[in-house]
Amino acid sequence: MGRIYNFSAGPAVLPEEVLREAAGEMLDYQGSGMSVMEMSHRSKTYDTIIKEAEADLRELMNIPSNYKVLFLQGGASLEFAAIPMNLMKNGVADYIVTGEWAKKAYQEACMYGKAVKIASSEDKTFSYIPDCSDLPISPDADYVYICENNTIYGTKFKTLPNTKGKVLVADVSSCFLSEPVDVSKYGVIYGGVQKNIGPAGVVIVIIREDLITDDVLPGTPTMMKFKTHADAQSLYNTPPAYGIYICGKVFKWIKKMGGLDAMKLHNEKKAKYLYDFLDESALFRGTVVKEDRSLMNVPFVTGNSDLDDKFIKEAKKAGFDSLKGHRSVGGMRASIYNAMPIEGVQKLVEFMKKFEEENK
Ligand SMILES: *Cc1c(COP(=O)(O)O)cnc(C)c1O
Repeated sequence: MGRIYNFSAGPAVLPEEVLREAAGEMLDYQGSGMSVMEMSHRSKTYDTIIKEAEADLRELMNIPSNYKVLFLQGGASLEFAAIPMNLMKNGVADYIVTGEWAKKAYQEACMYGKAVKIASSEDKTFSYIPDCSDLPISPDADYVYICENNTIYGTKFKTLPNTKGKVLVADVSSCFLSEPVDVSKYGVIYGGVQKNIGPAGVVIVIIREDLITDDVLPGTPTMMKFKTHADAQSLYNTPPAYGIYICGKVFKWIKKMGGLDAMKLHNEKKAKYLYDFLDESALFRGTVVKEDRSLMNVPFVTGNSDLDDKFIKEAKKAGFDSLKGHRSVGGMRASIYNAMPIEGVQKLVEFMKKFEEENK
């Protein structure tokens, strides 16, 4: 039985330790005689699991007490609609479009009100983050929306946009818990967990209490109202119970590793190793402007698509999985989330050096 190095953008690598622990508890969770999968979400045992998961996340992110943590379903993509439905009181929102996911969120919001694209980096295949220090924020905007880490293109906001006092909403699906964050700068932070935290099927929404109201757009389904889930502490209906249990284990793993400061150092070290090689390589190059490079998703190319294909094939044979880039960028992408060990990146770089030598 061998584990390989999995560079998938999502669902993605999880800490081996967590998987082993879950395997050990699969048939009998702590003497309950059943798996967490088989357990009532109303049971005392499960209540402890979800409460502990929330408490650990609050501790890790230092979430202020006037923010709620919601464990939801529907993927990050359902939030593209839930956000305008819940927050568009004036019917206006500003979107900064830095990639496919931001674009989808923007397009979805257009169905519910006046969504304004106030900045975009589409002119250069989303290879950079636009200057967001003085954007034409709409005077009546209910919020300003960003996708903080662009999973497909490999860019990341290093400074948050100047929203001129408006509520900031951020999709952090692919950078969740990768570094410390000042939650108080956001109105809403949300993400699907399958990139950096747990199994697909759970979305975490961290939302400031004053933004949770009954004043939502007409026709908003009960299940899509933040208030429904906030009032019920994420137990309005059956939550993605097993997924939340795994997320809870990953929170504990991050705490044990030293928290978000330690995660940041670990992620910077890995990313630097790969970017330094890309910068000196005669064959491979990164596709993103240096200042905006993501710590999590690293796209790169050789400049020759046949050679890219050859690399991906040979890498897979050598135990480096899912390095194919997104179809809109081509080439390769190495996603190096929290659970990717440094050895995975070191061995990948060794392999790239060898490939470069053999394909001069
Ligand atoms: C993967 C991803 C999504 C889509 O997530 P789903 O859970 O599949 O809906 C949205 N935003 C970002 C930044 C992503 O990386």
